[in-house]
Amino acid sequence: MRDRMAVELSNLGNIGMTPGGGTNRVAYTEAFFKGRNYVQSVMEQVGLNTKVDAVGNLYGTTREGAGKKILIGSHLDTVPNGGIYDGALGVFAGIECIRRLREEGYPLIHPIEVVGFIEEEGNAVGGTFGSRCMCGQEIGAKEKSSMAAVRLTEEDVLSSRCDPNDFLCYLEMHIEQGGVLDKERLSIGAVEGIVAIIRFYATVNGQSNHAGTTPMYLRNDAMVKSCEIIQRLVQLVTAYDPSMVCTVGEFQIPYGAVNVIPGQAKFLIEMRYKNLEGMKEVIGQLQKEYAEPTLQLRQFLNQDRTLMDPRLTEAVEAVCQAQKIPYKRMYSGAGHDAINTARIMPTGMFFIPSKDGISHSAQEYSSAKDMAQGVAVLAELVKKIDRSEVL
Ligand SMILES: [Zn+2]
Repeated sequence: MRDRMAVELSNLGNIGMTPGGGTNRVAYTEAFFKGRNYVQSVMEQVGLNTKVDAVGNLYGTTREGAGKKILIGSHLDTVPNGGIYDGALGVFAGIECIRRLREEGYPLIHPIEVVGFIEEEGNAVGGTFGSRCMCGQEIGAKEKSSMAAVRLTEEDVLSSRCDPNDFLCYLEMHIEQGGVLDKERLSIGAVEGIVAIIRFYATVNGQSNHAGTTPMYLRNDAMVKSCEIIQRLVQLVTAYDPSMVCTVGEFQIPYGAVNVIPGQAKFLIEMRYKNLEGMKEVIGQLQKEYAEPTLQLRQFLNQDRTLMDPRLTEAVEAVCQAQKIPYKRMYSGAGHDAINTARIMPTGMFFIPSKDGISHSAQEYSSAKDMAQGVAVLAELVKKIDRSEVL
């Protein structure tokens, strides 16, 4: 069983493989379509009824079962030169779960539908585009203009929308991408929610001056001040809660020159945490310590968290406890298709470890044992849902 899924994952990973061993299956490229065709052929071998919607999401549904469907899946696209597990794992886990239940002789009451979403990574149109179309969510003006390049129309978007009443729930099994499970030697992360994100444009003001003639004690160097402010932010975040994170991923000195003391520095701050309030508290403290005009902050993103259905998080925990699988409850620091499904149907998500927490890289790796344990949890979870013990 372990081997079957590992072989399929590596077969898919080989499609679009780069010389360095990374996988290039960016949505709407030839490699993506080739990869999706392969997954569709696996679904058909398993006897699923398959279809591809107008924006390119792949579905495979069991003939067994009636009424509302249990939707299981993730995405089939990768980042440029990505890994073979991110996304694809959750799709193959759904297929493997069906095979496993059949081998056990479990009679499905409800059909299982496996979905392979397109364009989760946002390299062609926008992040989680495929699942947003399925869930009937807003497509931005900028995204609409990128759709033409991949030959999509607004009608395609509208016709890919699903009827939420057709589904009992959506389940997504994904690699953790954070290193916590690997480090703590845990097998499953029961996802409680997906983090809130805030982003700011930060400007630090000083006084530009001659770099040779101005003694150190007379300087008001915006670059040096920025370093101090960023260090302080890191300190505040770390002290607040080890699960809060902040990043300065872009930094710029306008009109910077080797012989000029920086008069201004501009950078971007991103923070992620399980709630907005905690982050606002930290930013408030930073602003108290560095008032304007030294530090000016302008917020440009305020994205609230997405909660998974607590009944499904609890059910994942219950399965782990019953099977004596070491697990922990956690928040996802990364966005997933589950954000969109959570708006229209009960959604549950869990992680398996990724070695050293690496993802979006040729080095991405999850062991066959961890994958098999993930599928075992998924299969038990599906049975409970199927028997109406959870929702
Ligand atoms: Zn992913």
